[in-house]
Amino acid sequence: MLDNRTQKYADTLAQLIRMDTTSYDNQTDKTAFYHFHKLLKEKFPNIFSVVEYEDFSGSFLLKWKGESSQAPILLMNHHDVVAATGNWRFPPFSAEIADGKIWGRGTLDDKGGLWAMLQAADELASEGFVPKRDIYFVSTCTEEQTGLGADIISAALKEKGLRFDMVLDEGGMIVFEPIAGAIGKYAMVGVGEKGCVNLKFTARSEGGHASTPENNTPLVRLGKFMAEVDNGKQFKSELSPTVCTTFNRISKGMKGPVKFLLENAKMFKHLLSAVIPKISAAAGAMLKTTIAFTMCSGSTESNVLPESAWVLADMRYSHHQGSKDSIRVVTEIAKKYDIETEIVGPVFDSPLSDTESYAFKTVENAIARIFPDVITAPYIMTGASDSRYFSRVCDNCIRFSPFTINNEQLDSVHAVNENLDLDCLAPAVDFYRLIITEA
Ligand SMILES: [Zn+2]
Repeated sequence: MLDNRTQKYADTLAQLIRMDTTSYDNQTDKTAFYHFHKLLKEKFPNIFSVVEYEDFSGSFLLKWKGESSQAPILLMNHHDVVAATGNWRFPPFSAEIADGKIWGRGTLDDKGGLWAMLQAADELASEGFVPKRDIYFVSTCTEEQTGLGADIISAALKEKGLRFDMVLDEGGMIVFEPIAGAIGKYAMVGVGEKGCVNLKFTARSEGGHASTPENNTPLVRLGKFMAEVDNGKQFKSELSPTVCTTFNRISKGMKGPVKFLLENAKMFKHLLSAVIPKISAAAGAMLKTTIAFTMCSGSTESNVLPESAWVLADMRYSHHQGSKDSIRVVTEIAKKYDIETEIVGPVFDSPLSDTESYAFKTVENAIARIFPDVITAPYIMTGASDSRYFSRVCDNCIRFSPFTINNEQLDSVHAVNENLDLDCLAPAVDFYRLIITEA
């Protein structure tokens, strides 16, 4: 039996989940997103009656006028979801409630966060609350694709000359045992993300018939090149101050010699930077640039040698090595195999937020008050989020969603059976209420 508050929250969130807002590559029809805006206005009438609403091709910006002219803050999430394929326990847009959870595409990524943010604002608006400073809310419909909505909204805010004291986007959540042996619940608060660039490597030849091949044809050279790059040795592994803080916080739930090492990560940074990538690929990815080969092409006929063949790589570069040097290093290896390197698309840089900043401290304090048994640890996200665009208007973009999830739920993001515990709903609203009232 659910209490009244949770029941009411679950009903509202279920309605958001039931509206299919899947985004696609090159999507021009935004009808579903506008229906979704209409639904939000119906469900959260109090906040929508006091904010200025601005549409950006299916993404939106809300401005809640505050009492003072202090620098504003911005809270954001997104309302598009990835396609729901595969075999689901319940239909992905049914928002079924079972086993104390709500099931469906978008429960975690990211309609749960969007719902909690607007629910908190709506309650406060209905109570006659007026924020101390301007509060902006953003929700985009392109997060799962190009991020264009975040791009144009942040550009519009910059154009107005605005600077924000805090941007809070979706990101890390409250998890159990983030690394083996760290017992307890940890709020993983994203303070930045690795930069991202796509690189195309092309090998050329005279072509010819496959019956009389020469050595080192384009595909062979690409293969040798990929094998060399794959071990990752070309990139510098380093424990940045942020990663030292991550380990230091995580060590709080540990015992024994590993606790000692992580507690004193700064002192043991050379040892740790060598050992960690060998233990965990995920933890290792926080320490250095990574490269993953994702697409390729060769000849169009099975018996014809390609005149040119290419492979495409997704490179995520570390803050300490940066885009320029990471690209230079692989370009030099490519040259050894007579392969050309080309940058495809934009090069993204995302600065790290300061863990001593107002933004981080505010989120940390809200976590301590709403989730008193949780340890807060900053971390660097290896995936990309909409908030990367907002470093244009804010020095401290924080990535955190106030939900407690287990490993199974973490794996359900972008996969089958995405779900969220109903127990998480009320604390998430309380978290956003605190962020808004304390701003
Ligand atoms: Zn998301």
